[in-house]
Amino acid sequence: MDLDDIAAHLTGDPEQADALIDLSNVVRDTAIGGPHARSLDRLGLVLDALARRTGDRNATAYALADRSLRHNVHEYPDRAQPARLVEWIEAGLVEELPDADERLLDLAEGFGLPVISRDGFADFRLTHPWIQGNTTQFLTPVPTPVRAVKLAERDMGTRSPAQISRKLEESDLKAHGLLAGRNRRPITEVVRRHWRCPERGCTLYDSRRGGAIRLPRMKRGVPVCELHRTPLVDDGPRTGVAQLKLLVDGDCLHRFTLDVGSTVVLGRDPGPGGISLYGHVAPERLRRISRAHLSVQVSAQSLALRNLGVNGTRLRRNGARQPTLLTDEEYVTLHVGDTAELAEGIHLTRSARRFPMEIAAAWQSRPQRQPTSGPTAAITMLGETAASDGPG
Ligand SMILES: [Zn+2]
Repeated sequence: MDLDDIAAHLTGDPEQADALIDLSNVVRDTAIGGPHARSLDRLGLVLDALARRTGDRNATAYALADRSLRHNVHEYPDRAQPARLVEWIEAGLVEELPDADERLLDLAEGFGLPVISRDGFADFRLTHPWIQGNTTQFLTPVPTPVRAVKLAERDMGTRSPAQISRKLEESDLKAHGLLAGRNRRPITEVVRRHWRCPERGCTLYDSRRGGAIRLPRMKRGVPVCELHRTPLVDDGPRTGVAQLKLLVDGDCLHRFTLDVGSTVVLGRDPGPGGISLYGHVAPERLRRISRAHLSVQVSAQSLALRNLGVNGTRLRRNGARQPTLLTDEEYVTLHVGDTAELAEGIHLTRSARRFPMEIAAAWQSRPQRQPTSGPTAAITMLGETAASDGPG
């Protein structure tokens, strides 16, 4: 993609964009696009990847740059590149700010657009609590063997409350977490509610059909039905959630979101309200999983498992060498980092994902919590997860 092609994929209107690009980060990302300290070729590679990802050859991006990006012209492959960058800024194809991060994140939240960047935005976890545990909205450029780039969804992880001062967090929850801006619904607010699709017969988001909850897709700041593309209807408050990941041979094939207070059966064919692995696991491997294999119980404090099937479930604690067999007599807590093996190569683990409400709850009760045990400890110990652990 040459510089003219790149310009054709840039838009000055975030309403028209398929993604937001953290241009200072992408242009200086030496993991892709050659050895130069700065290069607009990287922007071309990322735009190519965006087109492939969206299936739209004309996919466009809204790019934001720090003012410093136009300097150090000797770091670019040639002088034409920084000159073109300045032209794009003057033409309104690139938005230039002294520091673009805050505006970038505001646009991402407001428009529900993905952000292409390798930055972890550690300094913005309070002003933008929706970044915490976000696994869908941040895309990282990853080099591919054919000298191209693909965009991988990135698990942003949860920044520990210990790293954040109490005072800041209180003022922040007031100032940002609970306030809705004009014409937008913050994601923090969306994840605290249940949603329902207004289309007749659509039960995709129905919270009364068992414990597995689907999170709404955001479109321009509005939660919409993935199937019908219609805005969802508010269906009451959600108390809290946990997420289970299904790993097959080490690949996360699916995430199941479970509500606090729910108990749900998981297996090959668990019946109404259960989590069926049918369709997620190849049929020949499903045979080794019981119809009703496990019971999953989610409380405000923990996620716990009880074995139900004859095939058995092995629990491996984080860091432990030997697994233990789960019994059908009692529920055993599954902490972040533990894995439960249903059959060879088929595992369940807890996602590090937590919604802002859970993090706020953890902060409030922090003095009583011990930093070495339980799921809360996992929040405390988790740093930022650098790599994408999801599919794609
Ligand atoms: Zn629907």
